[in-house]
Amino acid sequence: MSPRRKAPEGGTGIVDRARATLFGVAVGDALGATTEFMTPAQIRNRFGVLREIVGGGWLKLSPGQVTDDTEMTLCVARGIVRSERWDLKPIADRFAKWLSGNPADVGATCRRGIEEYIEKGRLEAPPDEKGAGNGAAMRVAPVALYALGDEKLLSRLAVEQAHITHHNPLSDAACVSVGTMIQRGLLGAPPRELRAAAEELATRHPEFRFEGYDGESSAYVPDTLRTVLNAFFSTKSFEECLVKTVNRGGDADTAGAIAGAIAGARYGLSSIPRRWVNALDPGLREELASLAEHLVRLSPRFVENTGKEP
Ligand code: MN
Ligand code: MN
Repeated sequence: MSPRRKAPEGGTGIVDRARATLFGVAVGDALGATTEFMTPAQIRNRFGVLREIVGGGWLKLSPGQVTDDTEMTLCVARGIVRSERWDLKPIADRFAKWLSGNPADVGATCRRGIEEYIEKGRLEAPPDEKGAGNGAAMRVAPVALYALGDEKLLSRLAVEQAHITHHNPLSDAACVSVGTMIQRGLLGAPPRELRAAAEELATRHPEFRFEGYDGESSAYVPDTLRTVLNAFFSTKSFEECLVKTVNRGGDADTAGAIAGAIAGARYGLSSIPRRWVNALDPGLREELASLAEHLVRLSPRFVENTGKEP
Protein backbone atom coordinates (compact mmCIF):
# COMPACT_ATOMS: atom_id res chain seq x y z
CA MET A 1 0.00 0.00 0.00
CA SER A 2 1.39 3.37 -0.92
CA PRO A 3 2.20 5.59 2.04
CA ARG A 4 -0.08 8.27 0.61
CA ARG A 5 -3.13 6.14 1.32
CA LYS A 6 -4.45 5.34 4.72
CA ALA A 7 -4.80 1.65 5.51
CA PRO A 8 -8.47 0.67 5.60
CA GLU A 9 -9.88 0.48 9.10
CA GLY A 10 -9.31 -2.85 10.85
CA GLY A 11 -6.48 -4.07 8.65
CA THR A 12 -3.30 -3.08 6.91
CA GLY A 13 -4.34 -3.59 3.32
CA ILE A 14 -5.78 -5.90 0.72
CA VAL A 15 -3.30 -8.77 1.12
CA ASP A 16 -4.01 -8.80 4.86
CA ARG A 17 -7.74 -8.93 4.22
CA ALA A 18 -7.34 -11.58 1.53
CA ARG A 19 -5.48 -13.77 4.02
CA ALA A 20 -8.18 -13.10 6.60
CA THR A 21 -10.79 -14.23 4.06
CA LEU A 22 -9.22 -17.66 3.60
CA PHE A 23 -8.29 -17.99 7.29
CA GLY A 24 -11.93 -17.11 7.97
CA VAL A 25 -13.10 -20.08 5.91
CA ALA A 26 -10.83 -22.44 7.84
CA VAL A 27 -11.52 -21.18 11.36
CA GLY A 28 -15.27 -20.98 10.66
CA ASP A 29 -15.19 -24.56 9.39
CA ALA A 30 -13.09 -25.83 12.33
CA LEU A 31 -15.24 -24.00 14.88
CA GLY A 32 -18.59 -24.96 13.33
CA ALA A 33 -17.72 -28.61 12.72
CA THR A 34 -18.21 -29.15 16.46
CA THR A 35 -21.86 -28.10 16.33
CA GLU A 36 -22.76 -29.38 12.86
CA PHE A 37 -26.18 -31.07 12.89
CA MET A 38 -26.87 -30.05 16.50
CA THR A 39 -29.86 -27.91 17.48
CA PRO A 40 -29.32 -24.60 19.29
CA ALA A 41 -30.80 -26.21 22.45
CA GLN A 42 -28.39 -29.15 22.29
CA ILE A 43 -25.49 -26.73 21.87
CA ARG A 44 -26.62 -24.68 24.89
CA ASN A 45 -26.88 -27.78 27.05
CA ARG A 46 -23.52 -29.08 26.01
CA PHE A 47 -21.38 -25.94 25.73
CA GLY A 48 -23.35 -22.97 27.01
CA VAL A 49 -21.99 -20.84 24.19
CA LEU A 50 -19.35 -22.45 21.99
CA ARG A 51 -16.47 -19.98 21.58
CA GLU A 52 -13.48 -22.32 21.28
CA ILE A 53 -12.18 -24.62 18.58
CA VAL A 54 -12.43 -27.96 20.36
CA GLY A 55 -12.96 -30.48 17.55
CA GLY A 56 -15.29 -33.43 18.14
CA GLY A 57 -18.67 -33.19 16.47
CA TRP A 58 -20.24 -35.99 14.45
CA LEU A 59 -16.98 -36.37 12.50
CA LYS A 60 -14.98 -36.77 15.75
CA LEU A 61 -12.40 -34.24 14.60
CA SER A 62 -9.27 -33.22 16.42
CA PRO A 63 -9.24 -29.55 17.49
CA GLY A 64 -8.45 -27.33 14.49
CA GLN A 65 -9.17 -30.00 11.91
CA VAL A 66 -11.06 -28.70 8.88
CA THR A 67 -13.55 -30.42 6.59
CA ASP A 68 -14.84 -30.37 3.00
CA ASP A 69 -15.62 -26.64 3.13
CA THR A 70 -11.95 -25.71 3.54
CA GLU A 71 -10.70 -28.60 1.43
CA MET A 72 -12.82 -27.65 -1.58
CA THR A 73 -11.86 -23.99 -1.12
CA LEU A 74 -8.22 -25.11 -1.26
CA CYS A 75 -8.94 -27.02 -4.50
CA VAL A 76 -10.36 -23.86 -6.10
CA ALA A 77 -7.51 -21.67 -4.85
CA ARG A 78 -4.75 -24.12 -5.83
CA GLY A 79 -6.32 -24.67 -9.27
CA ILE A 80 -6.34 -20.94 -10.04
CA VAL A 81 -2.90 -20.22 -8.64
CA ARG A 82 -1.30 -23.16 -10.43
CA SER A 83 -2.66 -22.13 -13.86
CA GLU A 84 -2.40 -18.37 -13.17
CA ARG A 85 -5.50 -17.81 -15.28
CA TRP A 86 -9.14 -18.83 -15.27
CA ASP A 87 -9.51 -22.49 -16.16
CA LEU A 88 -12.09 -24.82 -14.63
CA LYS A 89 -10.26 -28.02 -15.46
CA PRO A 90 -7.42 -27.70 -12.93
CA ILE A 91 -10.06 -26.93 -10.30
CA ALA A 92 -12.20 -29.93 -11.25
CA ASP A 93 -9.09 -32.14 -11.36
CA ARG A 94 -8.34 -31.14 -7.78
CA PHE A 95 -11.92 -31.89 -6.74
CA ALA A 96 -11.55 -35.32 -8.37
CA LYS A 97 -8.29 -36.06 -6.62
CA TRP A 98 -9.74 -34.90 -3.32
CA LEU A 99 -12.83 -37.12 -3.70
CA SER A 100 -10.69 -40.13 -4.60
CA GLY A 101 -8.92 -39.71 -1.26
CA ASN A 102 -12.19 -40.53 0.55
CA PRO A 103 -12.67 -37.29 2.48
CA ALA A 104 -14.35 -37.53 5.89
CA ASP A 105 -17.31 -35.54 4.59
CA VAL A 106 -18.64 -34.63 1.16
CA GLY A 107 -22.06 -33.28 0.19
CA ALA A 108 -24.27 -35.39 -2.07
CA THR A 109 -24.49 -32.76 -4.83
CA CYS A 110 -20.73 -32.20 -4.75
CA ARG A 111 -20.10 -35.92 -4.96
CA ARG A 112 -22.48 -36.35 -7.91
CA GLY A 113 -21.00 -33.42 -9.82
CA ILE A 114 -17.41 -34.55 -9.26
CA GLU A 115 -18.23 -38.14 -10.22
CA GLU A 116 -19.80 -36.88 -13.44
CA TYR A 117 -16.66 -34.90 -14.14
CA ILE A 118 -14.54 -38.01 -13.56
CA GLU A 119 -16.78 -40.19 -15.75
CA LYS A 120 -17.70 -37.79 -18.56
CA GLY A 121 -15.35 -34.84 -18.23
CA ARG A 122 -18.39 -32.63 -17.74
CA LEU A 123 -17.49 -29.25 -16.22
CA GLU A 124 -21.10 -28.09 -16.01
CA ALA A 125 -23.71 -30.08 -14.13
CA PRO A 126 -27.18 -30.10 -15.74
CA PRO A 127 -29.68 -27.53 -14.39
CA ASP A 128 -31.23 -28.76 -11.17
CA GLU A 129 -34.22 -26.95 -9.69
CA LYS A 130 -33.82 -28.81 -6.39
CA GLY A 131 -30.05 -28.54 -6.09
CA ALA A 132 -30.05 -25.39 -3.96
CA GLY A 133 -27.49 -26.70 -1.48
CA ASN A 134 -24.70 -24.55 -0.07
CA GLY A 135 -21.80 -26.61 -1.50
CA ALA A 136 -20.88 -24.10 -4.21
CA ALA A 137 -21.18 -20.98 -2.06
CA MET A 138 -18.92 -22.47 0.63
CA ARG A 139 -15.94 -22.54 -1.78
CA VAL A 140 -16.39 -19.25 -3.66
CA ALA A 141 -13.95 -17.13 -1.62
CA PRO A 142 -10.84 -17.74 -3.79
CA VAL A 143 -12.79 -16.61 -6.86
CA ALA A 144 -13.65 -13.32 -5.13
CA LEU A 145 -9.93 -12.77 -4.46
CA TYR A 146 -8.90 -13.65 -8.00
CA ALA A 147 -11.54 -11.37 -9.60
CA LEU A 148 -10.97 -8.48 -7.19
CA GLY A 149 -11.63 -5.15 -8.85
CA ASP A 150 -14.17 -6.47 -11.36
CA GLU A 151 -17.58 -7.41 -9.98
CA LYS A 152 -18.86 -8.43 -13.43
CA LEU A 153 -15.99 -10.86 -13.83
CA LEU A 154 -16.65 -12.17 -10.34
CA SER A 155 -20.32 -12.82 -11.20
CA ARG A 156 -19.36 -14.90 -14.22
CA LEU A 157 -16.55 -16.87 -12.57
CA ALA A 158 -18.41 -17.49 -9.31
CA VAL A 159 -21.19 -19.14 -11.27
CA GLU A 160 -18.81 -21.11 -13.51
CA GLN A 161 -17.05 -22.65 -10.53
CA ALA A 162 -20.43 -23.36 -8.93
CA HIS A 163 -21.74 -25.21 -11.99
CA ILE A 164 -19.07 -27.89 -11.74
CA THR A 165 -21.40 -29.39 -9.12
CA HIS A 166 -24.38 -27.07 -8.47
CA HIS A 167 -26.50 -25.66 -11.28
CA ASN A 168 -29.33 -23.84 -9.61
CA PRO A 169 -30.46 -20.20 -9.65
CA LEU A 170 -30.51 -19.82 -5.85
CA SER A 171 -27.04 -21.33 -5.50
CA ASP A 172 -25.79 -19.09 -8.33
CA ALA A 173 -27.25 -15.98 -6.72
CA ALA A 174 -25.75 -16.92 -3.34
CA CYS A 175 -22.28 -17.44 -4.85
CA VAL A 176 -22.37 -14.04 -6.57
CA SER A 177 -23.64 -12.29 -3.47
CA VAL A 178 -21.12 -13.86 -1.09
CA GLY A 179 -18.33 -13.10 -3.55
CA THR A 180 -19.48 -9.49 -3.93
CA MET A 181 -19.59 -8.98 -0.17
CA ILE A 182 -16.10 -10.43 0.17
CA GLN A 183 -14.77 -8.13 -2.56
CA ARG A 184 -16.36 -5.04 -1.05
CA GLY A 185 -14.94 -6.01 2.33
CA LEU A 186 -11.46 -6.50 0.83
CA LEU A 187 -11.60 -3.03 -0.67
CA GLY A 188 -12.57 -1.49 2.65
CA ALA A 189 -16.00 -0.39 1.40
CA PRO A 190 -18.35 1.04 4.03
CA PRO A 191 -20.59 -1.61 5.66
CA ARG A 192 -23.67 -0.21 3.88
CA GLU A 193 -22.17 -1.39 0.58
CA LEU A 194 -21.87 -4.94 1.88
CA ARG A 195 -25.41 -4.66 3.11
CA ALA A 196 -26.54 -3.43 -0.31
CA ALA A 197 -25.25 -6.66 -1.88
CA ALA A 198 -27.18 -8.75 0.66
CA GLU A 199 -30.33 -6.68 0.24
CA GLU A 200 -30.18 -6.94 -3.52
CA LEU A 201 -30.06 -10.72 -3.14
CA ALA A 202 -33.06 -10.71 -0.80
CA THR A 203 -35.00 -8.44 -3.14
CA ARG A 204 -34.38 -10.61 -6.16
CA HIS A 205 -34.93 -13.87 -4.29
CA PRO A 206 -37.12 -13.40 -1.18
CA GLU A 207 -35.97 -16.84 0.00
CA PHE A 208 -32.88 -15.01 1.27
CA ARG A 209 -34.62 -12.44 3.49
CA PHE A 210 -32.43 -12.39 6.57
CA GLU A 211 -33.87 -9.62 8.73
CA GLY A 212 -34.86 -11.18 12.07
CA TYR A 213 -34.24 -14.68 10.73
CA ASP A 214 -34.31 -17.32 13.45
CA GLY A 215 -35.11 -20.43 11.42
CA GLU A 216 -32.98 -23.46 10.77
CA SER A 217 -29.38 -23.17 9.58
CA SER A 218 -29.78 -26.00 7.09
CA ALA A 219 -27.69 -26.89 4.04
CA TYR A 220 -30.38 -25.33 1.82
CA VAL A 221 -28.41 -22.31 0.65
CA PRO A 222 -31.08 -19.69 1.47
CA ASP A 223 -31.20 -21.02 5.07
CA THR A 224 -27.41 -21.02 5.33
CA LEU A 225 -27.09 -17.51 3.98
CA ARG A 226 -29.93 -16.13 6.07
CA THR A 227 -28.12 -17.45 9.13
CA VAL A 228 -24.81 -15.96 8.00
CA LEU A 229 -26.22 -12.59 6.93
CA ASN A 230 -28.30 -12.25 10.07
CA ALA A 231 -25.23 -12.94 12.21
CA PHE A 232 -22.92 -10.70 10.17
CA PHE A 233 -25.21 -7.68 10.17
CA SER A 234 -26.17 -7.95 13.83
CA THR A 235 -22.60 -8.15 15.22
CA LYS A 236 -19.59 -5.84 15.21
CA SER A 237 -16.60 -8.17 15.20
CA PHE A 238 -15.26 -11.27 13.49
CA GLU A 239 -15.47 -13.26 16.72
CA GLU A 240 -19.07 -12.32 17.55
CA CYS A 241 -20.20 -12.99 13.99
CA LEU A 242 -18.68 -16.46 14.00
CA VAL A 243 -19.86 -17.34 17.50
CA LYS A 244 -23.40 -16.31 16.64
CA THR A 245 -23.31 -18.29 13.39
CA VAL A 246 -22.00 -21.62 14.68
CA ASN A 247 -24.17 -21.62 17.81
CA ARG A 248 -27.17 -21.89 15.51
CA GLY A 249 -26.10 -25.46 14.75
CA GLY A 250 -27.46 -27.15 11.63
CA ASP A 251 -24.92 -26.90 8.83
CA ALA A 252 -22.73 -24.98 11.24
CA ASP A 253 -19.34 -25.63 9.68
CA THR A 254 -20.48 -24.46 6.25
CA ALA A 255 -22.30 -21.43 7.65
CA GLY A 256 -19.15 -20.78 9.72
CA ALA A 257 -16.92 -21.02 6.65
CA ILE A 258 -19.05 -18.54 4.68
CA ALA A 259 -19.42 -16.17 7.62
CA GLY A 260 -15.67 -16.41 8.21
CA ALA A 261 -14.90 -15.45 4.62
CA ILE A 262 -17.15 -12.39 4.66
CA ALA A 263 -16.17 -11.27 8.16
CA GLY A 264 -12.47 -11.92 7.45
CA ALA A 265 -12.62 -9.68 4.37
CA ARG A 266 -14.47 -7.02 6.32
CA TYR A 267 -12.50 -6.98 9.59
CA GLY A 268 -9.00 -8.13 8.55
CA LEU A 269 -6.44 -10.53 9.95
CA SER A 270 -5.90 -8.86 13.31
CA SER A 271 -9.61 -9.29 14.09
CA ILE A 272 -9.43 -13.10 14.01
CA PRO A 273 -8.85 -14.37 17.55
CA ARG A 274 -5.26 -15.54 17.82
CA ARG A 275 -6.34 -18.71 19.63
CA TRP A 276 -8.45 -19.70 16.61
CA VAL A 277 -5.68 -19.08 14.10
CA ASN A 278 -3.25 -21.00 16.32
CA ALA A 279 -5.61 -23.98 16.41
CA LEU A 280 -5.14 -24.53 12.66
CA ASP A 281 -2.42 -26.77 11.31
CA PRO A 282 0.70 -24.62 10.66
CA GLY A 283 1.08 -26.04 7.15
CA LEU A 284 -2.51 -25.10 6.35
CA ARG A 285 -1.98 -21.59 7.70
CA GLU A 286 1.10 -21.12 5.59
CA GLU A 287 -0.58 -22.37 2.45
CA LEU A 288 -3.72 -20.26 2.95
CA ALA A 289 -1.60 -17.14 3.47
CA SER A 290 0.42 -17.80 0.34
CA LEU A 291 -2.61 -18.69 -1.82
CA ALA A 292 -4.47 -15.58 -0.69
CA GLU A 293 -1.61 -13.31 -1.66
CA HIS A 294 -1.14 -15.05 -5.03
CA LEU A 295 -4.84 -14.82 -5.84
CA VAL A 296 -5.15 -11.09 -5.24
CA ARG A 297 -1.90 -10.41 -7.09
CA LEU A 298 -3.45 -12.11 -10.15
CA SER A 299 -6.61 -9.95 -9.84
CA PRO A 300 -7.56 -7.03 -12.11
CA ARG A 301 -7.17 -4.76 -9.09
CA PHE A 302 -3.45 -5.57 -8.88
CA VAL A 303 -2.65 -6.31 -12.51
CA GLU A 304 -3.95 -2.87 -13.53
CA ASN A 305 -1.53 -1.48 -10.97
CA THR A 306 1.34 -3.59 -12.35
CA GLY A 307 1.35 -5.95 -9.39
CA LYS A 308 1.65 -3.25 -6.76
CA GLU A 309 -0.93 -3.04 -4.09
CA PRO A 310 -3.29 -0.29 -5.28
MN1 MN B 1 -17.95 -29.53 6.24
MN1 MN C 1 -21.33 -28.62 6.49
